[in-house]
Amino acid sequence: MFSITTEIDYALLEGMDFKCLEGCGFCCTFPAEVRECEPGFNAILKIDRNGVKKWVTTDPYFCNVYTMRQHQERGACIFLREDRRCGIYPVRSLLCRIFPIKIFFGQRIQLYTSQVCRGFSQDSNSNVLCLKGKEIMEQLPAQMKEEMTLKAREMYDSLPGKLSDCISPSVLQTRSLEHVNCMDISNEIVTQRDKDDFTSQLSSEEFINLPTYLTADMQWLVFRLNGRLLERIKLERTGEIETTGNIDYSFLSLRPLSADAANALRKYLEIIVKRDHFAGVIYLHALEQERNVPLIDLVTTYIDGIAASLLLRANLLAAFEGHDIIDADVIKEAIIFSDGYLATEPSYGLIL
Ligand code: SF4
Ligand code: SF4
Repeated sequence: MFSITTEIDYALLEGMDFKCLEGCGFCCTFPAEVRECEPGFNAILKIDRNGVKKWVTTDPYFCNVYTMRQHQERGACIFLREDRRCGIYPVRSLLCRIFPIKIFFGQRIQLYTSQVCRGFSQDSNSNVLCLKGKEIMEQLPAQMKEEMTLKAREMYDSLPGKLSDCISPSVLQTRSLEHVNCMDISNEIVTQRDKDDFTSQLSSEEFINLPTYLTADMQWLVFRLNGRLLERIKLERTGEIETTGNIDYSFLSLRPLSADAANALRKYLEIIVKRDHFAGVIYLHALEQERNVPLIDLVTTYIDGIAASLLLRANLLAAFEGHDIIDADVIKEAIIFSDGYLATEPSYGLIL
């Protein structure tokens, strides 16, 4: 049994500055959730009754959750205007208001960031994001906060009874950090299965599910495998698409990794495992698996998989940019390319 706390942890927001970038709108390429109990929910329905769709689930913890509809061919929320501003700004969902901050309700409440956003930067003297986090928690409708805390508490209370080898999130985090610190970060991590998974993501028939990336000059790029050709597609504000390059997929071979790149990747893995959301992902994998793999083995497999996926994405970006080696800068770009999914992956606990 581990203790459930009412603590709110802001540590992952410390030392971060943030300013939303004009003309970006990239966060609107991910399906945004909205809950019936949010103050703006009815106002959104009044604007467009078909603007949201209910999340189909039998899980009582996730009922009353909707997602904003997406333009399949535009790869973004239907309320996003051509100037990349929100068309329903005053009533947009809570999730849209708080981005790039995410709130995870599990054993406790923890705030963390989605590293896909280019609007924040590390600055040890800044407490901008911490203050924003505290303001968000103060303004969160009391009923919603209570409901989510209660549901999360029930979930985490029941966990030791469901998993025979259950360890608390803090112990899981310590063991994960130990693994990250002693990992040999090299191309050897990437297995054929990682390559097959990446190929399958790049081959998705749903345009909206293809890997997307935000360049430093705010272009939205989508990557798609078409036969043996890997296409780089630019998504225009109007929704038109233009292929801006392609490479033979067989050229996506792994480039040498510099020592700085390995360090940058290790630092990123440290951030991931410090998120309570990470522990929630592992618990969910443990609950859903059929083979009864021990929890700690799931942890190491999952962390190695993240490293492998990031290296594959780094190599994809390097292939298009003509880099012969993977350095720390390419890893930083690969994090922007990867983290949108990782920060919100289904997890045992509630995410806002
Ligand atoms: S991704 Fe970040 S910078 Fe871009 S619009 Fe969203 S919050 Fe602003
Ligand atoms: S509601 Fe507005 S802010 Fe939210 S995803 Fe849609 S366009 Fe973006």
